[in-house]
Amino acid sequence: MPEGHSVHRIARQFARNFVGRPVRASSPQGRFAEGAAVLDGREMIAARAVGKQMFLEFDGGVWLRVHLGIYGAWDFAGEITTDATIRSAGGRMGQTNQRGTTDDVETDALGAQSEGTLDEIALGSGRADASVAAAAPASGSSGAPRNASGATEFADLADLADPADPAAIDDADGEDSVRSIGAPRRARLRMAEQEKAGDEEGDFPPEPVGAVRVRLLTDTAVADLRGPTACEVLHEAQVDAVIAKLGPDPLLDNSAEAEQRFVDTVRKKQTPIALLLMDQSVVSGIGNVYRAEMLFRARLNPHTPGKQVTEYTARALWRDWAYLLDLGVRTGQMMTMDDLSDADRAKAMANRADRHWVYKREGLPCRICGTHIVLEELGGRKLYWCPKDQA
Ligand SMILES: [Zn+2]
Repeated sequence: MPEGHSVHRIARQFARNFVGRPVRASSPQGRFAEGAAVLDGREMIAARAVGKQMFLEFDGGVWLRVHLGIYGAWDFAGEITTDATIRSAGGRMGQTNQRGTTDDVETDALGAQSEGTLDEIALGSGRADASVAAAAPASGSSGAPRNASGATEFADLADLADPADPAAIDDADGEDSVRSIGAPRRARLRMAEQEKAGDEEGDFPPEPVGAVRVRLLTDTAVADLRGPTACEVLHEAQVDAVIAKLGPDPLLDNSAEAEQRFVDTVRKKQTPIALLLMDQSVVSGIGNVYRAEMLFRARLNPHTPGKQVTEYTARALWRDWAYLLDLGVRTGQMMTMDDLSDADRAKAMANRADRHWVYKREGLPCRICGTHIVLEELGGRKLYWCPKDQA
């Protein structure tokens, strides 16, 4: 299932190629005919992701809410703007993609020269200009928590650009900057749990293929949605009500208040922390991969009741999520290992098997202690963890 970083990237794609333009909306499959009729002919005003949900605003106070769920995907075609992270990956990226992203410009199957290599973007991410970092609001007056044992690898809060300010993110590392973004060109781009791009051939717009729930079409670009869990038209008050039920998303709000809301919610509950992290009312955007990896990075037993998670650890989890989400949005990859050598980093970006501490590593020796990584089922989902480091 796409985790928060994927949904933020999809919202950014809409911002690049759809926002500010009148949109023809239809439902080739027919299941969303009524909703499409409401949207048809309106200008798209904004594209916004909150956790795993996306909200597209149209003029007249009408919104389209989409949750991709497990099977949902957006297919873009026409004049599509791709950024350096997509181009350097040869248009193939994502958690389940074995080839993954490399920073080797030679592998750019699209033939487009990548102005910014992925490595620059990945290394640069979170290591924003000092001025940007300095301008970021401090989440708590005591500064970022330090790890007494030195075992954990939480990001320093100071490493984060101000996520509330898109310009800060874009300018700091250039995901949306002139340097890294390509001119719109005829392309196809699938965005779901993975991303895949290629050249578009044939007429525009292409005939819808398969069960397209909604098609959004401008003069130059088209986006087809297939297989979503949710696709509905809402008015502003309804959007507010949906968002009010969601936990904080650090890419939208990394304020001290948002952090406190997360910490307070976690430390009130008897529920195991592994379930709380994936509860979208507690915190937005975390899925199975980030959950497992964050708990390992915190050296935290997944079964620890929220009540028994220390304030220090709860704050560190929030800040680690802010760091990982920001990195994921910039690179399109769920990179959860830090401090790698150049060679190991290249390997990790190219292959998910080298990218994670515990996720999908059941039975393999822990990278730190050598104990076999355990797979168990919790709340109907697979949970991966190291019984020694996370004892
Ligand atoms: Zn271990």
